Amino acid sequence: MGVKAETLLKIIQSLEKKYGIPQKQSIKIPIVDQIIIHFLSQQEKQENVEKAYQAILKEFVDWNEIRVSHHREIQQVLQPFLKYQIHEKSLKIKDALQQIFTIYNKLELETLWEKDFSEIQKLSQQVSGLGQEFLLKFICYLYFQEDSPLASSFFRIGKRLNLWDENSNQTLLKKNFIKELGPERFAHLKILLFIHGETQCLAKSYDCSQCPLSKICDRAQRDPSIQEENEDEINETKSKRKKEDLAKKTKKIPPTKNATEAIAKKQCKEKNKK
Ligand code: SF4
Repeated sequence: MGVKAETLLKIIQSLEKKYGIPQKQSIKIPIVDQIIIHFLSQQEKQENVEKAYQAILKEFVDWNEIRVSHHREIQQVLQPFLKYQIHEKSLKIKDALQQIFTIYNKLELETLWEKDFSEIQKLSQQVSGLGQEFLLKFICYLYFQEDSPLASSFFRIGKRLNLWDENSNQTLLKKNFIKELGPERFAHLKILLFIHGETQCLAKSYDCSQCPLSKICDRAQRDPSIQEENEDEINETKSKRKKEDLAKKTKKIPPTKNATEAIAKKQCKEKNKK
C-alpha cells in the first residue's frame, strides 16, 4: 500500500510539534558502549561523559575486564572526570555488564541490530537501570540507521490511521517511505511514531481527544465523540498553541526529553486514577 509524501509529512509535522525534532548522532556507537554511556551520563556534562568514556576504553582491555574488576578500580578511572555519584555509577556499570553477560553469554551485542525490535526492548527491560529512558535515547540513535527494524507501535499506529499494518511487507514499506520522504525524514517518522506509541497511542489505551493526529486518523474519525471532544479542545487551546508553535519553530528540541516528560505525566495520571 503506497502512502504519499503529503500524508507522511502531515504526520511528522503534527508529531514534531508535540515531541520535538529528532536529533541525529554523528557516529555509530556499539550497543554495550551506549549502555555504559547511559550510566555515565546521569547529571553529568556531555564533555565530561565523553572524557570518562574514553578513559575507560584506554584503561581497560575490554568490557569483560571491567566486568571482573573490583568496582573501586572503575571508580578510580572515572574520578578525575565525573562529579556525581561516581561510586554508584561504577557499581551500575559493573552490574550491567554482569547482567548482559549472564543473559547473552557475551559482551558484544551488535547482532541485535539485525533482530526484531522486541529484542532491544527486552534488553532495556532486563538490565536494571536502563528502562524507558535508555530505550528512548537508543531509539533516536537506532532509527537513524537505515536498516533498523520497525517497532510494533509503528504498525499499530499505521493500522489505526488506516495507512499500513502488520501485514504490510516491511521491505516494500521501507522502500515506499524512503522514496517519498528520503532517509532522514523517514528516520524522524520512525522515532516520532515510536514515542507516540509509547506515550499516547498505546496498545490497550489511547486518548484520541488529546492526539495531534486525530484529524487524519481513521480510528478517531469513526468515533464522533472523540472528534467533538477534540474540536472543543482545539478551540479552547487554539491561541495558546499558536504561541507555542511559533516558539518551537525557532528551536530544535531533543525528542527524548519531551517524550520522557510525556511518560512521567502519563504515569502521574494513572496514579491519580488509582
Ligand atoms: S487519534 Fe487516537 S487512535 Fe489515532 S493515532 Fe491518535 S491516539 Fe492513536
